[in-house]
Amino acid sequence: MEKYDVIIIGAGPAGFTAAIYAGRQGMKTLILEMMAGAGSGYMVPQMENYPGFEVISGKDLLEIMRKQAEKHVTITNMEEVKSIESKDNLLEVTTSKDKYRAHSIIISTGSRHRRLQVPGEIEFLGRGVCYCATCDGPLYQGKEVFMVGGGNAAAQEALYLQSIGCKVTIIHRRDELRAEQYLQERLKEKKIPIIWDSVVEEIKGDMVVKKVVLFDRKTEKLSTVDVDGVFVAIGDEPSNKAAIGLGVEIDKDGYIPTDKYQRTNIPQVYAAGDITGGIKQWVVACSEGAVAALSAQKDLNQ
Ligand code: NAP
Repeated sequence: MEKYDVIIIGAGPAGFTAAIYAGRQGMKTLILEMMAGAGSGYMVPQMENYPGFEVISGKDLLEIMRKQAEKHVTITNMEEVKSIESKDNLLEVTTSKDKYRAHSIIISTGSRHRRLQVPGEIEFLGRGVCYCATCDGPLYQGKEVFMVGGGNAAAQEALYLQSIGCKVTIIHRRDELRAEQYLQERLKEKKIPIIWDSVVEEIKGDMVVKKVVLFDRKTEKLSTVDVDGVFVAIGDEPSNKAAIGLGVEIDKDGYIPTDKYQRTNIPQVYAAGDITGGIKQWVVACSEGAVAALSAQKDLNQ
């Protein structure tokens, strides 16, 4: 069984940064990636707040990070972590393909899209219901689409959809957006319509999505609107299965609390990035990844 100094679970901004730091310090490092190019970071159409790049997509930035990490560490693909156990002062990771041992584990598994949980959502998945504007937006050029959500992701993705020629309307459950001010201003400038105080009650169609039933929370009235696609960006849920199996403490929302060195409640186990909750920004994830790798090395040397 191959033994590593550190195994990093998850290949997003936190995982790649941890890998770059760990690998460059001479730690024998493995990144376990469930599916290359499928993490939520790849779905960010455009970022304007990652220092060093005035504008860059999540996919392009992750590909740069991957190339940099690959110079120093081993990256697997299509290996789902099944379990992590503590054995003989080491951590043993069982994946869908193999078993590995390591002195330390960095959990950077991020989060996955929250679902609306309304009738039709699962039925029309991939047939009009989408969670990634960058991936699926081009299929809806010239068509009417809804973007459900009021946060940064919904605002950014609505702007992207409009920029590629979709006729996009935002559906938000309150009367003000959660998205940052600069994005709200951009939505106004681009005249993207917003249906306020409304939630999706049901998604209908035949082979593909045709209609959405909306409930106006103020008037308490239902309406049915013709639409070709429903994009959902209503936040994330932590991907914490591997951590829970190992006995890592999680908070009431499912995120992993850490100390300022990214240590979890279990010795030799660190967490970094969106899985730790808090401020979900790329620079924060990267910085936590760097701290986790430096802490893992310090603890290993002791
Ligand atoms: P978010 O900030 O949590 O916003 C989720 C939005 O969806 C909120 O407006 C929320 O409404 C709405 N919502 C939640 N559950 C809903 C439901 N069941 N039905 C209808 N609406 C629902 O999520 P996000 O926009 O995906 O962003 C996730 C994190 O990534 C955030 O921390 C965000 O700041 C960060 N992010 C940052 C950037 C950036 O460039 N800075 C870009 C993307 C994401 P309420 O407002 O009523 O709660």
